Formats: sequence, C-alpha cells, structure tokens
Amino acid sequence: MKTASGLSVIRNGQLVDGTGSPPVPDAAVVIQDGVIRYAGPAATMPADLAARLDNPADANSPDAPCREIDARGGTIMPGLVEAHFHATYFNVAALEDLDIKYPVEYVTLLAAANAKLALECGYTAARSGGSLFNIDGWLKKAIENGIVPGPRMAASGREICGVGGLMDWNPDYRKIGMEGLVLLINGPDEARAAVRKLVKDGVEWVKTYPTGDAAAPDVNDHHTLCMTFDEMHAVVATAHNHGLKVTGHCRATEGIKNALRAGYDTLEHGTFVDDEALEMIIERDVPVVPALYFEKASIDRGPEIGMPQKVIDGHKETLDGGAESALRILKAGGRLGMGGDYGFAWNPHGDYAKELSFFVNYVGFSPLDTIRCATKTGAEIMGRGRELGTLEPGKLADVLVVEGDVVEDISILEDRRRFIAVMQGGAVKAGQLTQPAENGAARRRELAEQAR
Ligand SMILES: [Zn+2]
Repeated sequence: MKTASGLSVIRNGQLVDGTGSPPVPDAAVVIQDGVIRYAGPAATMPADLAARLDNPADANSPDAPCREIDARGGTIMPGLVEAHFHATYFNVAALEDLDIKYPVEYVTLLAAANAKLALECGYTAARSGGSLFNIDGWLKKAIENGIVPGPRMAASGREICGVGGLMDWNPDYRKIGMEGLVLLINGPDEARAAVRKLVKDGVEWVKTYPTGDAAAPDVNDHHTLCMTFDEMHAVVATAHNHGLKVTGHCRATEGIKNALRAGYDTLEHGTFVDDEALEMIIERDVPVVPALYFEKASIDRGPEIGMPQKVIDGHKETLDGGAESALRILKAGGRLGMGGDYGFAWNPHGDYAKELSFFVNYVGFSPLDTIRCATKTGAEIMGRGRELGTLEPGKLADVLVVEGDVVEDISILEDRRRFIAVMQGGAVKAGQLTQPAENGAARRRELAEQAR
C-alpha cells in the first residue's frame, strides 16, 4: 500500500484519538513517513518537531517538503474500522441472489467497487464477515499492492454452516448447492475438512453459523442452532492449529455459549446474551460485533420490499435483544466492534456509519464510546491493535479529517462529502483534498450557502 514519505502536519481541529479520552481542542497531529510522531495540543508539541515544521528544509528528508492540512475547525480522528464487512455482498434484493445471480468474475469487480466506496466513507480498515469464493483474500492483496483503493483488510473466505442450517437454503431439487458462499458440513470431520480448505485459500478468519436468524423463521430462526458444539470445537481446533481465527453468527443464547466454550475469537451479533454468557464474554475478553443496523433497516424497509411480517417481527425481537446485550457488554467493560452487515438492497454499501449514529441515538452509547468501538476495538479485532486504531505516536497514520464536531453530532460521519481527508499511512486517499479543484470550489460555495 502506498504510504506518505516526509513530514506532514494536520492542524486547526479538535483531536478525538480513538481511546475514548475527551477531545483535545486546538490539536496537531504530526506524521513522518506515514507514522504518527505526535498527536496532542498544538501548544505542547515538542520543540524539535515544531522547529522542523517551521523549517522543513532541515528535516531528514529535505526533498519531501512539509505538507500542512487545515482541519478548518473540525475533527481529526482515526480512520474507521468496519468490523463486519462483506465486500462481496452486492446489495442483493434476496438472499438467494448472493450465490447465483452473477459469476465470480463480476462479483470480484463489484467487491472492488465496494472496497473503494468503503474507503471513501472513511473506513481505512475492515475485517471481513464472510466472502463469496475466495475473493476477499485476493481483494486484500490488490489493495495492499495499490492496484485498487480500499480499506486494509482482514480476509474471510466461504462461510461454514451445518447441512440444513441457515445458509443451506437451496432445496436439493434445484441441484445447485451453495458452492460460492458456504461450505456445508455434517459432523466434526467435515468441519475440519472445511477449515483445511480455507487454510489453503489463505484466509485469516473462519466465519461460521452456530445459529439461525430471523430471516429464516420456519426452520432456522434466531433461536435455532445450526452447528453442534462438536462441529464448532473441531473448527476452532483446526483453525487455531494453523493460526486462523474463528468467528460466528451467534444469535441464540445456547449458540453464544457454545461459541465461547469452543474458544471462538470473536462473536458476531451476540444477540441474546444471558448472565452466564455475559460472564464468559467478560472473563475471556471476547470482542462482540453486534451489527445491528441490518436489523433496523430490515424493520424500516422490510414492508416496501415485501418482507413477510413474521420475518420483520423476528428482526424486531433481534434488534431489541441485540441492543440490550450490547449495552450490558459495554457497561460490564467488554469490547464491541462496529459493523453493520451492509450489502443488501435495504442495507446497502455506503451506509456504514449509520451503525454509529444508531448506537448513539437508539442503543444509548456515548459518541466517544462508539468511536472507540469503531476505531481502537476494530483494530484489535483485526489483530492490528499495535499498528492501527488510535492516533498515538508510533501508529500508522490512518486518519480522518472531518468538517464539524463528530462528538456533538456523530451523524456527520454518514456524509462522505464532509471528509476533508481520508488518509492511510499519511497518504491522502479520499476526501475533498483528492477532488479536482472545481469540485472543491463547488463544495465551498455549497458550504457558504448553508452558512447564510
Ligand atoms: Zn454478515
């Protein structure tokens, strides 16, 4: 991935560093060769750095002049991390479309477009929540090699589910299986075989389906189990042996406990958490990614797309349970990642930051807690907490420079036109600063009109 060389400084904005600490007014962030050297009050910047900024010719790399980014009184914060990203879900109108509508070649191109969009939306990193074929692994490589723009990725592969479970929705008479999306298993031996396929594919995360979902109310609803404990344990033992991590779609209480006992590294959704499950989550410090905006969007937009009432009712129960569990986990000191399961017609790519507003306005998280979940915890889930996720010296300069006060109004992050700069390793990859001058001028006129 192309990162910046030389010295640059971002000034004239408040710093929200991603740790959950209160904002620092009138801050400065100094970046050298793509890495943060200083993040704090502009007034207390170390004298040697301040001198070099004033006189960049004295810098170690004199051929790279100091670049100055003006935050225009807005916010300087870490790049966001989508902790449940489906680059290959192409805004499908029906679940069945995922596996059969397009060939892998076209889905790959769509996934690249989704990755570019995510970066433009301020998401500088993403952990995959499951992928069609082995597209994520190659998408990650293309992003790292600078072939296509996108978030730094942690790749998943095809998802593992028990035969007859949530993801095995094609009846046998169709004779089409679920080749691109799911590895279907019966028993621990087949679970091991499925993980071994993924090991060969080179993915980092194994996504499984321990439970059902409101989307399948008849035989695989949100209180149904779709894998046995023995299957889940076989997945974890095999994955961990090869250095892969395991996560799973966990709604039903017993499925959550099975996942925790089997040694899962994270839980997706963690919807119906009881006292015992909460205790295990906290004791084992297992991060949970609730991904609730999918539920909200299903309830709001379900009727217009003909979603059966039974399904919408199930999503309502899921949303209430998921919101309550997320709040309990936060209050107990647990870790939560932000990701919204985007990639459906009613919950499309580009809406990622709606998850953040939802957690503030509906679930009751503070904006600073929400931002910490969406940055620091996201990076930790990816296994890159030492490199990414906060604006602190020594971290990679994945930075957002945003118009306005995101602590006062977190919904600002939903509007990508308000990003002055989206940076990866100190290089500006998206935002107003990358747009042609005429676009920038148009945006300034628009802002001037709004201010009137
Ligand atoms: Zn998902």
